[in-house]
Amino acid sequence: MVHMQQYTPMIQQYLRIKADYQDAFLFFRLGDFYELFFEDALKASKELEITLTSRQGGTEERIPMCGVPHHSSTGYIEQLIQKGFKVAICEQTEDPETAKGVVRREVVQLITPGTVMEGKGLLEKENNYIAAITVTDDFHAIAYADLSTGESRATLFSSSTDLLLNELSIIGTKEIIVDSTTDPALVKMMEDRCNAVISYENSTSHSQDFNEIISDLPEEKLQSTVYRLLHYLLKTQKRSLNHLQDFVSYEIDQFMKIDYYSKRNLELTEPIRGTGNKGTLLWLLDETATAMGARMLKRWIDRPLINQSVIEKRLQVVEIMMNHFFERQELRELLKGVYDLERLAGRVAFGNANARDFIQLKKSLWQIPSIRQLIFQLDHKDTERLAENLDPCEELTDLLEQAILDNPPITVKEGGIIKDGFHAELDTYRDASRNGKSWIAELESEERKKTGIRSLKIGYNRVFGYYIEVTRANVHLLEEGRYERKQTLTNAERYITPELKEKEALILQADEKCIDLEYELFLQIRESVREFIPRLQQAAKIISELDVYLSFATISETRHYSKPTFNNKREINLLDGRHPVVEKVMGTQEYVPNSCTMDSKREMMLVTGPNMSGKSTYMRQVALTAILAQIGCFVPASKADIPIFDQVFTRIGAADDLIAGQSTFMVEMLEAKNAITHATKDSLILFDEIGRGTSTYDGMALAQAIIEYIHDRIGAKTLFSTHYHELTVLDESLKRLKNIHVSAVEQQGKLVFLHKIKEGPADKSYGIHVAELAELPKELITRASEILNELEKENAIKVKNPLSDSESVEIETTEQMLNEQLALFGEPNKKNKIANHEKKVIDEMKNLNILDMNPLQAMNILYEMQKKLKK
Ligand code: ADP
Ligand code: MG
Repeated sequence: MVHMQQYTPMIQQYLRIKADYQDAFLFFRLGDFYELFFEDALKASKELEITLTSRQGGTEERIPMCGVPHHSSTGYIEQLIQKGFKVAICEQTEDPETAKGVVRREVVQLITPGTVMEGKGLLEKENNYIAAITVTDDFHAIAYADLSTGESRATLFSSSTDLLLNELSIIGTKEIIVDSTTDPALVKMMEDRCNAVISYENSTSHSQDFNEIISDLPEEKLQSTVYRLLHYLLKTQKRSLNHLQDFVSYEIDQFMKIDYYSKRNLELTEPIRGTGNKGTLLWLLDETATAMGARMLKRWIDRPLINQSVIEKRLQVVEIMMNHFFERQELRELLKGVYDLERLAGRVAFGNANARDFIQLKKSLWQIPSIRQLIFQLDHKDTERLAENLDPCEELTDLLEQAILDNPPITVKEGGIIKDGFHAELDTYRDASRNGKSWIAELESEERKKTGIRSLKIGYNRVFGYYIEVTRANVHLLEEGRYERKQTLTNAERYITPELKEKEALILQADEKCIDLEYELFLQIRESVREFIPRLQQAAKIISELDVYLSFATISETRHYSKPTFNNKREINLLDGRHPVVEKVMGTQEYVPNSCTMDSKREMMLVTGPNMSGKSTYMRQVALTAILAQIGCFVPASKADIPIFDQVFTRIGAADDLIAGQSTFMVEMLEAKNAITHATKDSLILFDEIGRGTSTYDGMALAQAIIEYIHDRIGAKTLFSTHYHELTVLDESLKRLKNIHVSAVEQQGKLVFLHKIKEGPADKSYGIHVAELAELPKELITRASEILNELEKENAIKVKNPLSDSESVEIETTEQMLNEQLALFGEPNKKNKIANHEKKVIDEMKNLNILDMNPLQAMNILYEMQKKLKK
């Protein structure tokens, strides 16, 4: 056991600070490096692939250490954050030269996945949310914010783990802040399901400073949850949070509910396989011109609406945009010139905006007057509403135009930022510096004349300042005593003169003053920009919205979508619908459109058809159409009249979902349970081959029971695809269930998919033909056909009497016995021949009157029969 006192004072300081940041890598500033020690060093050297060293720390054993240079630390920090770690930045907070003893150090910021403000960890087209939760027996609450944009929201709902996990996964939060007494099992679930890091904050106490941003929140419970978030942010970020917008409270019932599994199965924003968003609805719809628009689009897809008039307003704007091709094109061009206003505002508030950010800000705002004008040209009240609130912030653009040079550097402390004429004092220093420099230029030509050395020049470096340089060969031409030698190079000598040094002092002083003053002015301007943050955020919001509408209009036009209408009779009428993503991928020419009609007499449809015929595609096209409509986009159908769905559920039988790595039958059933317990008659359910994760009869029984339950108890609009052909008889007992199938035809013994939905059940399972298409060995295909024939014979009786019919059991037993007897006459693996050719012989045998025969006759007949069978 090592005692604290044994360590050197600096390591003691390290350990004291580290104690407060157990769950983070502590980046400990030592001169030009951030160093990591002990466990942190071991772990970080692996994660970052940097060299592990060690240093003396007062004890016998050396202390493991690794480090990264301060100036290139950003990349390393990003890497750790992206891997889900936290990084505490510990700086020297006093001047090492004047410090007595160990330099004072403090953590100035804790960077976590939920609080990154820049770099690769912050995806341009995605929000970066951090959420705080409160979990009690009576209620659950969530407050969340995106520190990079200032967006902040809060919601309160009944105490339900399902709802909590679901809402957190819809938000897509990177970090969740909980009270330290939270049930560890729940913490584990949140980590797994939401792929988020967990942080702890117990304080929910209120503070006057934030009265304003919580003033819209009706409930004390919500306010406390917001405070948990704010306390955590203040503690970790240690700077102003005044760009956080007023927290907006919302009800989770205001939106269509799509749980985590359904979202995944429908591939709304993430593909089932792979990464990125290729092949998703988001990928299809994203024609946005700005990152802000792309983020809003994702938020809209994550939360389809259920309020008809709000949906119709969106559709209305999309329609107006569609009808104005030229204005639309122009608007898109203008939007391309708008940078990420939201995040620019965030950087200003956070204190890390630089002068280039200001130029982006100015250029963005400059687009606004033209954008406004174009919107007014559309001449419609629904679009004018957008333009009216679109604020070009002219005072701000004027200020930035007057103050900031067009190509400023990224660094803010080295000058080169402020324009001439902006600030009188700055101009004076600059004049002094420039005059000095032109004086030096003059001196150069004078010296050349005086000495006759044409190659003489005056240069500058950081160590010696200004100097006169003369090549070795010419040194003898210099007047004795006037030049003081400062530096010798291979071919030249460098000199100074008193008058040169005098001017130099003036120039350098002026330069230094310029730089200090520029920085000061820059900070003042940043403060002024800060005042505009709420207006910038408002403009950002409108531009994002506009961008999404333009995107919808572009897609709707190029892909020939039509404007949906809504009914409250729970009727679906889709004429020539398409799966939007499959259609895009395969091309409109190839895609076979399919209609869908459902009403009070057709609440459920049982979808049969061969593998790969298009069952899943058809079912998803209905769900995606509903979602598109409810986010306010036109839909892929020539006509669409649909109800507004409160929830959409999509479940895929386990066998289809091996990729998830958790394709157990239990998961399949849990998902089914979730759908069945939460669905209402206003919901849409897609069950895609549910029940295939277990044995045939087991699965079939479950599938039938689920269908009956939904039919009798829920009444949700349901599409149920199945490969259990036996289930198609259910339309006899379930009034509101209808059979449909995806048609395929056999041409010359081969199967041809038509991808066309037809009424009634599919007449045959085409599995063997699919196997044939896949070119399995001919012999194997023939054998499969034989087996199928026989099985069909066995099951023919059962199909008429599904599952529970007692008669079928009897018949089945008789047939089984017969088969067993027949098996005596041939090799078991030729069973199906028995079923065909030899059946005649068996019939003969059945009709024999054995009592009328003597043993020899019986023997002869038996011999005859055997001969026939051997043929
Ligand atoms: P199933 O669920 O019946 O096995 P899928 O819905 O997965 O079949 O469809 C299989 C493939 O058939 C799809 O990947 C697509 O290429 C094609 N397909 C499906 N529906 C259509 C359609 N309506 N028009 C054209 N091709 C389609
Ligand atoms: Mg399928």
